[in-house]
Amino acid sequence: MRLNHLHFFARALKSMERVEGIEPSYAAWKAAVLPLNYTRHQRRESYRPNLPCQSAVANLRAVNSLLLSGGRVLDPANHLDTLADVLILNGKIAAVGNDAAAQAPSDIEKLDANGLVVCPGLIDLHVHLREPGQTLKENISTGTAAAARGGFTSLVCMPNTSPSIDNAGTVALIHERAAREGAVNLFVAGAITKGIAGEELAPIGGLKRAGVVAITDDGHCVQNNELMRRACEYAKMFDLPVMDHCQDYSLVTSGVMHEGRWSTSLGLQGWPSAGEEMIVARNILLAELTGASVHCQHLSAAGSVALIREAKKRGVPVSGEACPHHFTLTDAAIAGSEKFWAEDGKQVFSLQSSVGELPVWPAYDTNFKMNPPLRSARDREAILEGLVDGTIEILCSDHAPHCGFEKEVEFDYAPFGITGLEVELALSLMQLYHTKRLGLADVITKFTVAPARLLKLAKGTLSVGADADVTVFDPDRDWSFERETTASKSFNNPFYGWPLKGKAVATIVKGRKVWVEQEAVACV
Ligand SMILES: [Zn+2]
Repeated sequence: MRLNHLHFFARALKSMERVEGIEPSYAAWKAAVLPLNYTRHQRRESYRPNLPCQSAVANLRAVNSLLLSGGRVLDPANHLDTLADVLILNGKIAAVGNDAAAQAPSDIEKLDANGLVVCPGLIDLHVHLREPGQTLKENISTGTAAAARGGFTSLVCMPNTSPSIDNAGTVALIHERAAREGAVNLFVAGAITKGIAGEELAPIGGLKRAGVVAITDDGHCVQNNELMRRACEYAKMFDLPVMDHCQDYSLVTSGVMHEGRWSTSLGLQGWPSAGEEMIVARNILLAELTGASVHCQHLSAAGSVALIREAKKRGVPVSGEACPHHFTLTDAAIAGSEKFWAEDGKQVFSLQSSVGELPVWPAYDTNFKMNPPLRSARDREAILEGLVDGTIEILCSDHAPHCGFEKEVEFDYAPFGITGLEVELALSLMQLYHTKRLGLADVITKFTVAPARLLKLAKGTLSVGADADVTVFDPDRDWSFERETTASKSFNNPFYGWPLKGKAVATIVKGRKVWVEQEAVACV
């Protein structure tokens, strides 16, 4: 009789595991099966649930302590800007200051950060890692490797995958893959609507329970204002920010570049600034109506900045982000390098006067096609002003990998988007810090404290006890980004061969070095 009960329990656990995807604990399974005779036990070993890979765990333990010595420690969260050592023990920040080295075990690994900036690990809250379903373009392993090279320790991946991230199961799949294959921390944004179709709300409560840090239909934009209002109400209830790709479809129709002088002379259909500004205005009204935190993604137009600036003055819970391509390039880039450097590129050119040759590209180069599009020099200036006065709090890449065969078509038919994780720090430093628009701490704030605050992440600080996510970079390093060196699976980037200034040289995640440029940093 007792044996029958045990048989039943073992069978029930087994079917839970197989049919419903529930994994019973190995201890519970073993307790049920062990009293049975030996052969039966052996047979059931084949149903043993997957256990974590022991060698991976051992690896983590071996390398998660480090002493970063002599760097300029810049931690905006603690208003710290000083020459100091940073001691990392067991994956956590253990001490910051001149006495940190004295507290270190004698055999600790050291990293000489003299002449370098040591700051909290950078966060990029807007990347497309293309997993699941589009792994020919990118996957979690290659995308997070590119992040590590760019100095990023945490990413938020967008849900416009295939299938889209609109349910708890897909969130769990990404968390599991990220734990196994990710070089850096990966947080997930869930969809606002089912299938990102803009018609029916996704299960926002279920997504929150599954661990998403925000909701967005990025790549698409919810056009139905009532549906967006409900999304805001649910998001507020579940304490999630709503991130929005601002694009009014009726105004934009099939526009492929900024509507203006260049779209006219190039004969390409225009994507007017009003197409973005209309939705930014809608989002401000809905944030005010519902009290939800609404975040406008990849702002490109001067009018959007003005709207957000005014709304913030009234205390509306709205925020914005900007990508380096929008505040570095303009729509003249689509007319070819000659036109760009002669006109709107001057600003970038003057900064690089001491550096060698500038790159050349033809008109209609699809690596200058992104959504929202590159806009006028006036819009670029407005984005920079918004970053300077704090209207735009967050910097990010909108890393959007595409295969070569997809981009190597006529401009009209190419997909929107470029990769960006490996150059965004340099471009941000060039346009904001090296031009003296912002101090170094202000630029770092937009990559650390600000995104952590919006998403309520316990990241973006070097406080004692925090996860030891640290970026070490050289703000003055001259270098150029080359196709051969990218860690991304895709090559759709317009900045190859550009003279860049500022580079990450070591990226540390929970005390583990996930990227170190050997020539720049001496490890003792
Ligand atoms: Zn987008």
